[in-house]
Amino acid sequence: MAKEILECSFCGRKKPETNLLIAGINAHICDRCIEQAHGIVLEELKQTGKKELLEDLKLLKPKEIKAFLDEYIIGQEKTKKVMSVAVYNHYKRLMQEQNEDGIEIEKSNIIMVGQTGTGKTLVAKTIAKMLNVPLAIVDATVLTEAGYVGEDVESILTRLLQAADYDVSKAERGIVFIDEIDKIARKSDNPSITRDVSGEGVQQALLKLLEGTVVNVPPKGGRKHPDQKFVEVNTQNILFIAGGAFDGIERIISKRLNHQAIGYDSLKHKDEIDKDNLLQYVVPKDLKDFGLIPEIIGRLPVLTHMDPLDAKTLRSILTEPKNALVKQYKKLFEMDDVDFSIDEEALQFIVDKAMEYKLGARGLRSLCEAILTDAMFEIPSSEEKELHVNKSFAEQSLNKNLLQQLKSAS
Ligand code: ADP
Repeated sequence: MAKEILECSFCGRKKPETNLLIAGINAHICDRCIEQAHGIVLEELKQTGKKELLEDLKLLKPKEIKAFLDEYIIGQEKTKKVMSVAVYNHYKRLMQEQNEDGIEIEKSNIIMVGQTGTGKTLVAKTIAKMLNVPLAIVDATVLTEAGYVGEDVESILTRLLQAADYDVSKAERGIVFIDEIDKIARKSDNPSITRDVSGEGVQQALLKLLEGTVVNVPPKGGRKHPDQKFVEVNTQNILFIAGGAFDGIERIISKRLNHQAIGYDSLKHKDEIDKDNLLQYVVPKDLKDFGLIPEIIGRLPVLTHMDPLDAKTLRSILTEPKNALVKQYKKLFEMDDVDFSIDEEALQFIVDKAMEYKLGARGLRSLCEAILTDAMFEIPSSEEKELHVNKSFAEQSLNKNLLQQLKSAS
């Protein structure tokens, strides 16, 4: 009996003419047809993408958004709640645009005030992940007014386009996280600068983006590619989240609170003020006193703060979030069939060191690396199938490795 030559049930190509023929229940498909079909699917998704996105988002209520944030972010209850509502309203606003009844919901751009390493970027990243929208993280310190050395404000949108794989409609629903917004505060007490290159001018340039405008964006960014075609990006539906440490704003807050406490309308009794966490009392006026122009503050109407991380929070960050550090190391070792474990005392030791050297949550990673690098170097080539880290192991490895460097870097 002649051997039957298999063929693609879609295009009829015989198996030898294909690179790959995949068998189904009663049919076969070749690699070319798979690619073609994939193209059709992508095209179709692009068309219905926006509709689907909005339909999906309808399902996510603020409480569900908060529950998602809870999986990744420890503490920061106020910010998680405020964010959930702001994000929910933002996407409600996108839906609203379709039924034009004359009521325009304003944008709910957000500003977060909190020390570095308290999770501001993490919040922005987690929200983008949840919504499956592109995210651009930009540092306000590199921005300058057009014509000066540095990056133009439009470069923010270049980043977003890149994050969206150059799909403009995707970018137009994305999120931009502007870090270190406090660094472009007006420095009015600096008489030697005649033109405030990195301050108020940049704030003015940012204003337009925040409120929603069509910007000509150089897709490759910057001035290095003068011949590129510009792409129009509408910032109307882009959610902007700004973050900054606002070093010294506590003094402004404290002054205001003291003032209020002695005034007739004192809402808070002086003794009730939690002096260790003054950021929780931040109001828009404090940002103005710090040097942000009122228009910028107006365009970032949702103001929230990050709590400082105490030892208990750091300890939780090590093991509790969905992609907690300890879980990540466990997985890495698992790939070499090594059973990794770390005991409570060792975890506490890491937290103590992070507190001692004021390294914050970011330091947890460096500390873990310093403790585990030797083991991660040796074990894959050895017969070991188990690694248990206790306090003395952690202490020894750390002393041997990076403690000195960490100390000088902090
Ligand atoms: P910021 O933007 O405020 O400077 P990041 O978001 O970059 O801080 O935080 C640095 C790292 O510290 C994050 O990647 C995360 O691993 C960890 N981290 C910080 N705060 C938290 C938190 N509240 N919950 C979980 N992890 C956190």
